[in-house]
Amino acid sequence: MKYISTRGQSKPLSFSEILLGGLAPDGGLYLPETYPKFSDQDLNAMRSMTYAELAFHIISKFIDDIPKDDLKSIIYKTYTKEVYAISRPEQKAEDITPILKVKEDLYLLSLSNGPTLAFKDIAMQLLGNLFEYVLAKENAEINILGATSGDTGSAAEYAMRGKKGINVFMLSPYQKMSRFQSAQMFSIQDPNIFNLSIKGVFDDCQDIVKAVSNDLDFKRDFKIGAVNSINWGRILAQIVYYFKGYLAVTKKNEVVSFTVPTGNFGNICAGHIARMMGLPIKRLVVATNENNILDEFFKTGMYKPRDSKNTFHTSSPSMDISKASNFERFIFDLIGRDSHKLNQLWKSIDQGGNFDLNQEGVFEKIKDFGFTSSSSSHKERIHYIKQIYDQYKIMIDPHTADGFKAAYEHMDESVPMIVLETALPIKFEDSIVEAIGQIPDRPKSLAHLEDLPQRFEVLDNQVDLVKNFIRQSV
Ligand SMILES: *Cc1c(COP(=O)(O)O)cnc(C)c1O
Repeated sequence: MKYISTRGQSKPLSFSEILLGGLAPDGGLYLPETYPKFSDQDLNAMRSMTYAELAFHIISKFIDDIPKDDLKSIIYKTYTKEVYAISRPEQKAEDITPILKVKEDLYLLSLSNGPTLAFKDIAMQLLGNLFEYVLAKENAEINILGATSGDTGSAAEYAMRGKKGINVFMLSPYQKMSRFQSAQMFSIQDPNIFNLSIKGVFDDCQDIVKAVSNDLDFKRDFKIGAVNSINWGRILAQIVYYFKGYLAVTKKNEVVSFTVPTGNFGNICAGHIARMMGLPIKRLVVATNENNILDEFFKTGMYKPRDSKNTFHTSSPSMDISKASNFERFIFDLIGRDSHKLNQLWKSIDQGGNFDLNQEGVFEKIKDFGFTSSSSSHKERIHYIKQIYDQYKIMIDPHTADGFKAAYEHMDESVPMIVLETALPIKFEDSIVEAIGQIPDRPKSLAHLEDLPQRFEVLDNQVDLVKNFIRQSV
């Protein structure tokens, strides 16, 4: 299995060769040259598998340069009930991503039972173990540099803590994360994790990361790497839970639909690939918030990314994205993997422009890929948090509430709809209190999180200060 770039001008590479990198050298994103296919019979055989068995069965089809036994032990130590312990009382932790029936034909797929209470753990935990394995084999080291406004940074740190050959330097905006989010990151005491609290906003952090990565000498000398959402390993790990959720609600391979709270298009891109692999998915519903460029695209065929000045800060902050980095992967498939055409489209995007797929005559094809979309306002999220709680005694977070709003709009008669739960409500206490007037329950293990000693450095908003810090720490 080789991986090719969407832009078509990079050499095809194997899995281990693309694992540690981000973009392909030609600026594109990596995808497997073909998608493995699963038949009706295959699906039946997979229905009784545990999460780890299923993950190995699927992931091993995409990786041919790690010995099977090694891959198996990496996957089996990643997906354990100890790591995904924060399940709801009525669920079994060993399911890893347990399904919860909300009502007839409406389900919640719990993806947030890992250490940082958001779905990003599922992929990041695997990435941590794969990175450690590949680095050890090559006797290499990596210094991961990233910027976070909350969820990604903590998922990366919990996945990489204590890993040999890996340091993490995570930039976050000084005093701009929730108390819970800062406590979650800053209480990590492992010496390979460095929290840099930058006196600025999230965009400043991201600009510093870009500036450091663009200094090619520094990047080479200090082995700077990334774990951002375009990493193929993250998409790959996410494909598994679409199968898991599907198999949990079906008996004879009937069609189901999925609704996915969407920001960078990474989560739903995995759903698209699962569908291409033969999973009987009727609809893939893209749920957005007020930052609704993707909703606009799926309704009109026009893709018009916005700049950061026109990106709203909302109550589902992990979806406050106005340029969806993984979207390029889906468009590549939609236009029949025509790299030449893709280059034309993204030339416009990279220059701050937009594109219209009606003019290209391909927008019609969206239907064949199952996609549809919706967007929600703060008021609607609060409404759905309250409604789902009042009617079903299930607490959902504001991102998952974006999902429920979209799911109710796009449910078909007797087709099960599975909403992906992207975070637990305790991460976003304020919205829950606003909706239902009570603070969500906390698992015992996190009861005193904010009281734990914290470890972080406060730095002025200057690239050189960050470079110096890295120099002195490695
Ligand atoms: C990251 C994140 C999202 C968006 O996921 P994408 O893969 O970027 O589309 C949605 N909800 C939560 C809670 C997240 O952390």
